[in-house]
Amino acid sequence: MTGFWTDGQGKRVAVVGMERSGRAAARLLHSKGFEVLGMDQSPAVDACEHCSEMLRGPHDPSVLARLDGLVLSPGVDPRSEFIESARVAAVPLIGELELGFLATGVPIVGVTGSNGKTTTATWLDHVLRSGGVASVLAGNVGNALCDAILDNPDVEVMVVEVSSYQLQTIERFRPSAATVLNISPDHLSRHGTMDGYISAKARIFENQHSEDVLLLNMDDPSSRSLFGRTAGVERHFSTISSVRNGVDCSGEGETVCIVDDRIRTPVVRREDISLRGAHNLSNALAVIGLAHSVGLSAEGMADGLRSFRGVPHRLEPVRKLAGVSWVNDSKATNQDSLRIALMTFDAPVILIAGGLSKGSDYTAPRELISRHVKK
Ligand code: ADP
Repeated sequence: MTGFWTDGQGKRVAVVGMERSGRAAARLLHSKGFEVLGMDQSPAVDACEHCSEMLRGPHDPSVLARLDGLVLSPGVDPRSEFIESARVAAVPLIGELELGFLATGVPIVGVTGSNGKTTTATWLDHVLRSGGVASVLAGNVGNALCDAILDNPDVEVMVVEVSSYQLQTIERFRPSAATVLNISPDHLSRHGTMDGYISAKARIFENQHSEDVLLLNMDDPSSRSLFGRTAGVERHFSTISSVRNGVDCSGEGETVCIVDDRIRTPVVRREDISLRGAHNLSNALAVIGLAHSVGLSAEGMADGLRSFRGVPHRLEPVRKLAGVSWVNDSKATNQDSLRIALMTFDAPVILIAGGLSKGSDYTAPRELISRHVKK
């Protein structure tokens, strides 16, 4: 750690939002000698062994007067009134992801995007470990970075799933390799506009240096606005066209290849990749591109690409009963993942769906639903 957050020396800081990430931040801070206050709006939040005090209920700005710093969990809106008051009072602020980043020297591979983050990050971690790299999966997947650092002192690579919420509070967070998988209208209620949402995703590479790698999706029109913006090395992946540097599967027919200056190295046959669907081919290409940037050879990747069983709740086969296949896709929380799910099945679909619109309108899925959905 550097600067203010290097060493606690009895400094008193509060962690806002005491769910998993907040608790991990409290644990890391406590281990560095900070005195930690836990704050959570829920009156029922559990006590925390790393906190000297727990403040439950509405955040009271008067607490700021006795704080040296404030840590934000990813669930906390950095533009909320309380956080604005902290800014006005010049209380140093940091997000949990940034706090974890400052505490580790381990190379970080960052995965963000609208859809496929968990699948891709989990798959990448699986491929790296199958290939002999000591990798740990952290971030938005549920294992907070601050916990992962404390629990895995001997790790070689941290694969970190990063949400756009987490990116709102970074300053120096710098993944040595990163991808923005795709960008579709989601989370608009918090980011306001599509441009705001794209800018939030772009923050994942804002601190990259010339030796760092950014992998972008050539097939996704919205991702084009990210091209040419990293200070690092930009590479691409595409399921439909050939790339100059990156990963594709067009040149050699059904074989996925790593491409360096148009020189192709075959990795795996498309049909041998364990997860079905065009979206998972796209995810697999991202996995390969990131594993390559970490230094894993094409041979080293093949086993993990064949053996990955997927993540629960993502187009997860549940059972087949009386000719009906039941599928759990409860992580499909926006229209793009709904579209991809419906396009994966040839048989007529009975759809059970619901939730918040998050600012999207429902015109687009109308036609798709009338075409693919029976009931
Ligand atoms: P995230 O972590 O970004 O929410 P997940 O891997 O949890 O992504 O998948 C969420 C939903 O998106 C699932 O329904 C899954 O089938 C779908 N999905 C996975 N990969 C993609 C992709 N590349 N493009 C669109 N949808 C995808």
